[in-house]
Amino acid sequence: MLIVKKFGGTSVGNKERIFNVARRCAEEYRKGNDVIVVLSAMGKSTDDLIALAQTINPNPPKRELDMLLTTGEQVSTALMAMAFDTMDVPAVSLNAFQVAMHTTRVHGNARLKRIDTDRIMHELEHRRIVIVTGFQGVNKYDNYTTLGRGGSDTTAVALAAALHADACEIYTDVDGIYTADPRYVPKARKLDEITYDEMLDLATLGSGVLHNRSVEMAKKYGVQLVVRSSLNDHEGTIVKEETNVERMLISGVALDRNTARISVIGLKDQPGMAFKLFNMLARENINVDVILQSIGRENTKDISFTVSRDEADAAVKILESNLSRIGGKSISCNREVAKVSIVGAGMMSNPGVAAKMFEALYNQNININMISTSEIRVTVLIHERDAERAANAVHDAFGLEE
Ligand code: ADP
Ligand code: ASP
Ligand code: MG
Repeated sequence: MLIVKKFGGTSVGNKERIFNVARRCAEEYRKGNDVIVVLSAMGKSTDDLIALAQTINPNPPKRELDMLLTTGEQVSTALMAMAFDTMDVPAVSLNAFQVAMHTTRVHGNARLKRIDTDRIMHELEHRRIVIVTGFQGVNKYDNYTTLGRGGSDTTAVALAAALHADACEIYTDVDGIYTADPRYVPKARKLDEITYDEMLDLATLGSGVLHNRSVEMAKKYGVQLVVRSSLNDHEGTIVKEETNVERMLISGVALDRNTARISVIGLKDQPGMAFKLFNMLARENINVDVILQSIGRENTKDISFTVSRDEADAAVKILESNLSRIGGKSISCNREVAKVSIVGAGMMSNPGVAAKMFEALYNQNININMISTSEIRVTVLIHERDAERAANAVHDAFGLEE
């Protein structure tokens, strides 16, 4: 069997944890399996590197930031290889260049395009455990890129797909995927299974347990994922196309604080305004999420939308410099907002799900700023201070607890 095992930052956060991972992988190796280990940087070291960069330059060039951040994963993978060496288990660490993992050009949020498998296959044939740096790639200019925060999950799934692995296991600091983040929803319950589509929505809407692109890729290439704890042997959660369990109305609640609301006031009420506005942002690679347009009055209209908080400044800057061209009067930006979403395939055939969520928020006297829905999700934008109370209230209202 060829097994890809990915371990997150907490799972390799110190010496004991590194040896814990090494032991778990060696066990698999000794059974005769081929083992690829994908690692994140130790503990919070990616955050620390970003903070360090900012002491030198509050707005570091993206190429150089990637150059810096890729060191985090080189530290953990090299140390892991050293740990295997003490156990007499043959192993080798490889970074994105050595593999090579080819990505698009963009820094900070690159997409994997192609993985060369020769080097990895060669190492496996020599019965070595192959330890690969997560989160990083190389672009066509031979520069390091990174895949976006949490991107090591995507590295693991991409390797599993490229090498036709028999299993792809994502080890983390929780026992699996829960109905909500157990860190702030104490009654959250672990799921045995979840579909790619539901998990993709949860991940995109703020459930950081999996990088959303990893789920997208797993669905595309049919890679079944297991998410489980690196600290115990509890069974985790399986992410796959169809689940066997009877469909619940909703499978989870997600919360995303990394959001900001931008409003453009007094736009001309004529065709093409939304196109111009969002095209300007798209050209700068800024992702727009929930969009709300007011009904036109006195020949003007307002458009509000959300962007991730770290892109809010850039978005406001672009809009301000083009405000007269789109005929807008003013722009405002509110960073004290959060998105709370419910996700579930069961919603499709059950009217009244959104109303139930709104009722739960009303009972808590929580005001809703914006709403957006799809077949299998409802998202509301609320004040950030209400975020955790809202997530718990909605979780209770749908009876998701144990
Ligand atoms: P890793 O470093 O292993 O990649 P992450 O911090 O990226 O770990 O992801 C694990 C964390 O995701 C958990 O500690 C948990 O707080 C958070 N999380 C958010 N939503 C969920 C959810 N629905 N189920 C489980 N964990 C979740
Ligand atoms: N180390 C990177 C991060 O902190 C990638 C990852 O953990 O998946 O975002
Ligand atoms: Mg992660």
